[in-house]
Amino acid sequence: MNETILTRADKAILDGVLDNFAELAKIPRPSKHEQQAGNFLQKFFEARGLNVVRDKFNNVVAEIPASKGRENSPLTILQAHTDMVCVARDGVNFDPIKDPIRLIRDEKFLYADGTSLGADDGIGVAEILYLVDNRDAFSHGKIRAIFTADEEQGMSGASNLDEKFFADAGFLINCDAQNFGEFIVGCAGCLFVTFKRELHYVRPDTKLFTNMAITVGNLRGGHSGGDISRGRINALKVAVQILRRIGQRGKVRLAKLTGGKAFNAIPDRAEFVIATDVQAADVEKICAHVETYLREIYAATDPNVKIETQIIPRPEKVLHAKDFDCLTNLMTLIHSGVYQMSPENSTQVIASANFGVVQTDDERVTLKLLARANNDDLIAELTDVLSQAAKLCAFEADISKPTPAWQFKSESRLLKFAEEIFTQQNGYAPEVQTTHMGVELGFFVKKNPALDMISIGTTNEHIHTPNERLHLDTVAPHVKFIAGLIEKIAASD
Ligand SMILES: [Zn+2]
Repeated sequence: MNETILTRADKAILDGVLDNFAELAKIPRPSKHEQQAGNFLQKFFEARGLNVVRDKFNNVVAEIPASKGRENSPLTILQAHTDMVCVARDGVNFDPIKDPIRLIRDEKFLYADGTSLGADDGIGVAEILYLVDNRDAFSHGKIRAIFTADEEQGMSGASNLDEKFFADAGFLINCDAQNFGEFIVGCAGCLFVTFKRELHYVRPDTKLFTNMAITVGNLRGGHSGGDISRGRINALKVAVQILRRIGQRGKVRLAKLTGGKAFNAIPDRAEFVIATDVQAADVEKICAHVETYLREIYAATDPNVKIETQIIPRPEKVLHAKDFDCLTNLMTLIHSGVYQMSPENSTQVIASANFGVVQTDDERVTLKLLARANNDDLIAELTDVLSQAAKLCAFEADISKPTPAWQFKSESRLLKFAEEIFTQQNGYAPEVQTTHMGVELGFFVKKNPALDMISIGTTNEHIHTPNERLHLDTVAPHVKFIAGLIEKIAASD
């Protein structure tokens, strides 16, 4: 019987892919511990007589020869990452370095027993292995299967992968997107910026009779890539705004300011301690006013924002006026949120910044900010803005080398092929987007700027949480889509 993948029953495809996934789930593979997963993949290809190499970063690269008559078709890379985010539900005993993922399958979903599932990106790996084993069922040029390590914690696998693996390739299909029917065709580059300034403390003037601890809390927070366009409140910006409003009424000095947890998290809480000659009742009024108007403006995102004040004993020391001014100037001048939306698509952010953390201690104040932009020129512009602001406010700025952006190419042939095949197979058009997150493809396109790339995937919900689950009905259509796309590429030249 001459059965192709495109005519094969969906259930057979699903079962085949899930068999591979079950093998992978037995192997503990948190980021930076991909050795065993590397062994498994290496053996998989060796057992099939295929050429496979592994580098010292645990990236695995395998070569699959073209089908007969397609030897001159362009080389296509199929890529997925081997590591996963390992998290367990409270009370679940789980050692990510030692324990397998226990799978539960029902009618609609695959999920794990008390832990994350690792469909991100184990299902991409399992699908590529399935396609390799069933390569006689579709016509294809040379295929290179690339499995990267450490995607979830710094992308060191993708960044260190030898560029020779990309030099001779025409197309790259990444299987790490999380929604079937959604194509990712561009990503942001990230700049990690640490602002620092040495602090000088003085004893507070006895005329500063109001001493207060103020807390901004009950905020939604969120991810600085995925949620920055939702317009949520940044607790640090609110804190500095209150400080300035009090400063417009009288003299105010700061004893302490802390808030936020990470570069990439929108801060949901900030705390600060002040000494001021503004009456306590007036400080309370200012805080109540800010709380009320924030609740109005941000009713859709942060309806419960809460600003609390508490009278406290006089702090022993406060920041010198100059330090106070420099700090509040910097935090006021640098915008936190969306810098620019895409001129082509008004729902997509192409430049943003997130003030993630502020912390004063005995010696210095440290501020952490993560800026993102979907092309290299915007990254350069943001770098300039941020370093100038630091200079003007007498701060040191430690600006990281940016992770590479993957700029959307409207002339992409791969995108045209993918739209055509997807619509043909599924009866509806895919959604084409760029992401404001950083993805591995940013590193790949820097290794070969001519590479035509797309990121696609099955539908995986609640990734990076114990509720992660795979929509089973998207697996077979996704495998058929990849096979169809590869056939299209093979027939294109
Ligand atoms: Zn992933």
